[in-house]
Amino acid sequence: MKNFLEIENQHAAGVYAKRNIVLVRGSGALLYDEQGREYIDCVGGQGVANLGHAHPAIAEAIAVQAQTLISCPEMFYNDARATLTARLTALLPGLWRVFLCNSGTEAVEAAIKFARVSTGRTEIVAAMRAFHGRTFGALSATWNKRYRQPFEPLVPGFSHVAYNNLEKLDQVVTEDTAAVILEVVQGEGGVHPGSAEFLHGAQAVCRKQGVMFILDEVQTGFGRTGKMFALEHYGLHSDLLCLAKSIAGGVPMGAVLVGERVGEIPTGIHGSTFGGNPLAAAASLAALDVLEKEGLPERAAQSGAYLLARLRDIRSPLIRDVRGMGLMVGIEIKQKVAPYLQELMERGVLALPAGLTVIRLLPPLVISKEQLDRVVEALQEVLSS
Ligand code: PLP
Repeated sequence: MKNFLEIENQHAAGVYAKRNIVLVRGSGALLYDEQGREYIDCVGGQGVANLGHAHPAIAEAIAVQAQTLISCPEMFYNDARATLTARLTALLPGLWRVFLCNSGTEAVEAAIKFARVSTGRTEIVAAMRAFHGRTFGALSATWNKRYRQPFEPLVPGFSHVAYNNLEKLDQVVTEDTAAVILEVVQGEGGVHPGSAEFLHGAQAVCRKQGVMFILDEVQTGFGRTGKMFALEHYGLHSDLLCLAKSIAGGVPMGAVLVGERVGEIPTGIHGSTFGGNPLAAAASLAALDVLEKEGLPERAAQSGAYLLARLRDIRSPLIRDVRGMGLMVGIEIKQKVAPYLQELMERGVLALPAGLTVIRLLPPLVISKEQLDRVVEALQEVLSS
């Protein structure tokens, strides 16, 4: 058998810290390595695999569209794309246009550009601990020095205020601010849900100062937190909403939903070769069908409540906090998580870090109660040993 691990190590760019397994197959919330060993997937493709792996409806939609038309630049109209734009903009009142791209960071770039063009201003206020992506605009909105410093100077005009501190946000937003960009639940920064007071306050400050309110639901969107979008828990209305990850059932796609306050976006100021391609559009339409038909947001709410309750019952002096929303869960411990993630993997559970001290769980929303029990048991063993 070929040594795929060695081949990747030799030829891939090397920017990722890797785990020593070769995954070759998935089904629902399970993944399998090349030896056929089974893992419960609480990485969920880093939030991409909300529908579970190898969902037949997604496979079918991709196969049919691939035999019909894969690429069609946005200079032409297309049936799959047209249907998707109508479907996405019907999901949330007030967000009436959509820009399609290919990833989360591209959605953030587009939102920042639209906010600048719309307001004629240049400054962007983001939050400490925020993660918005790795391209220069999104990276400038991202907080973690480890990602930023090697690439400085970044885009000028970005500032960061403490998350959930409305007073600080109010002080920093001025008549030069084009946008405030926030995650509804900070993911990579440690799984920190926003407080209702902060998020509503931020929205009000933006309205008062003529600033665009950008919500980044790249990770929280499409059922993850127990509603289709996390903003629905709070009744928020953003001007620009960034989406990606599970939007197309695992096929790369990003989107920005655009609200009325943004106004008309001038023709030709932004674009993407792959953006709005029929293959991703067809996959996204199928993903939206599955999310609705299988009631996955509701399922995430129920499974998430069960998981949080069971995790809070674990007695371990290592655990500092257990928090989350739906199936976006963080277990903050008093030590670095890397060795614990390795031990979990050895017990057949794949989990993510969020910062240095938080174990993050982002399982497919189809994960069963029995699988969640196995995850809790593995965590219990690892955190008590
Ligand atoms: N925004 C948030 C909240 C994210 O969690 C991520 C990725 O983890 C991104 C943006 C960037 O998305 P992508 O990796 O698709 O560029």
